[in-house]
Amino acid sequence: MTRVVVAGGAGFVGSHVCDALIARGDEVVCVDNLVTGRLQNIAHLTDEAAFEFVEHDLSKTISIPGRVDAVMHLASPASPADFEKLPIQILKVGSLGTHNCLGLAMAKGARFFLASTSEVYGDPLVHPQPETYWGNVNPIGVRGAYDESKRFAEAITMAYHRMHGVDVRIIRIFNTYGPRMRPDDGRVISNFLVQALRNRPLTIYGDGSQTRSFCYVSDQVAGHLALLDSNLIGPVNIGNDTEFTMLELADLVLEVTNSTSEIVFEPLPADDPRQRRPDLTLARTRLGWEPMVALRDGLTPAADWFAAALGV
Ligand code: NAD
Ligand code: UDP
Repeated sequence: MTRVVVAGGAGFVGSHVCDALIARGDEVVCVDNLVTGRLQNIAHLTDEAAFEFVEHDLSKTISIPGRVDAVMHLASPASPADFEKLPIQILKVGSLGTHNCLGLAMAKGARFFLASTSEVYGDPLVHPQPETYWGNVNPIGVRGAYDESKRFAEAITMAYHRMHGVDVRIIRIFNTYGPRMRPDDGRVISNFLVQALRNRPLTIYGDGSQTRSFCYVSDQVAGHLALLDSNLIGPVNIGNDTEFTMLELADLVLEVTNSTSEIVFEPLPADDPRQRRPDLTLARTRLGWEPMVALRDGLTPAADWFAAALGV
């Protein structure tokens, strides 16, 4: 039996990680201050003897009684809409929160797992992005709080590894979607699905030629567990390497939802990356992991979930 602290476990990805750990027989202590997470994401786990929820702001010191084998730090607001609304909370949880989680891991002799992001590559000048690329980030721009908080988080994780011998893992998550995303989180998949399901116009920012590569949440969680259980420090990219323009995504969403919504164009936000696609060579060769769910196949269960959440 392994006892895992999941920081940010009431969020979208974190709650699916909690599910997967419980399903394989681990004990989970979910720590979250609910700034962007929701209790309904973990409501189905609260009767499980192996699951515990602690409401706590990780920017403040954390103490967890008893044995801890791994600390998974997924806590951070993660939508570009949050970057503008919550920049100080993001910087605090990426810096102080990561420091506190590393301190907990060190005190318990536990493995530390950091959820980093493709945003460390910024608006990438290398395409697709391998882990060896150092990125192209505007530190003072509107995405800077998030990008730099994660770059700092990676740096302090490696410093604890080098100075204190903490056993660490770093994952770089690329755009992930699926059930339990907040319908109003402002990300493109949630926006398009909600707009399509309500027969409202799909809002494309810019001309829609920018690209992303979308990973279904079950693939993302499988990548998390593969890295957690491996002997690889990372960083390791986990995502899907099939790339779409936002125009292509809009067409696919309209098709999957059978919607008659029109498409409208709105201004492109500042520093919006032009293109993004992970180089997955490291994950494939060292973790034996592979994304399994094509975008068309993942959009259907995601749309079903949003339809139920919205009552449409
Ligand atoms: P989310 O907002 O749904 O989940 C984040 C969780 O962290 C929430 O439950 C939130 O309440 C909690 N949290 C934030 N600050 C906290 C604090 N100070 N103390 C305690 N809890 C706090 O976002 P998500 O999409 O599930 O992202 C999870 C992680 O994965 C984040 O670290 C994010 O940066 C990373 N990530 C996600 C994506 C993606 O596409 N979803 C892409 C790249 C990286
Ligand atoms: N986007 C869009 N319409 C929306 C929301 C987002 O065209 O309603 C675009 C956004 O400008 C970006 C891409 O979709 O180019 C992905 O945005 P998202 O917020 O999902 O995540 P990002 O990859 O930028 O962090």
